[in-house]
Amino acid sequence: MGVPKRRAKPKPSPASSNPVGYQAPEGSWASSAATRKAMQANRSRDTRPELAVRSAVHARGLRYRVAVRPIRGVRRSADLVFTRARVAVFIDGCFWHGCPEHFRLPATNPDYWGPKIRANTARDAETDALLALEGWTVLRIWEHTLAVEAATRIEGAVRERLAGLRRPPEVP
Ligand SMILES: [Zn+2]
Repeated sequence: MGVPKRRAKPKPSPASSNPVGYQAPEGSWASSAATRKAMQANRSRDTRPELAVRSAVHARGLRYRVAVRPIRGVRRSADLVFTRARVAVFIDGCFWHGCPEHFRLPATNPDYWGPKIRANTARDAETDALLALEGWTVLRIWEHTLAVEAATRIEGAVRERLAGLRRPPEVP
């Protein structure tokens, strides 16, 4: 993504509205105080980037389940789940999942946030491995990704898997 690197001093903001010092890219959905606050509250369902991706994917005629566990008995739920195609999509928050472009270790309590975010990314990798073992295609999409771009990736993966289902099995 061509997010410009800005050297400008971060605007002062009340500590309560930005406890972790996250600086959203200019013009992104998270650059308004309200959405930034919502994002920092904790990872929750139906965040704005998630809704945008969901509606872009829906507009392309693809149907999916929302926030369900792809594998029964494994307590990991994906944001969009295409059961027949076996594609699981995660929309990852830039702060909580340690986006290489936007994550900055907060100046306050770095000893808490560092291990916390590392644990999240380790868990993500483990989830990907578990799903791959069960034959799932896993897509991880940063929340900073444009919804239309995300929808293109998702549609490509789903259509590829569905085409694979229709292909006759290879003769050895
Ligand atoms: Zn990001």
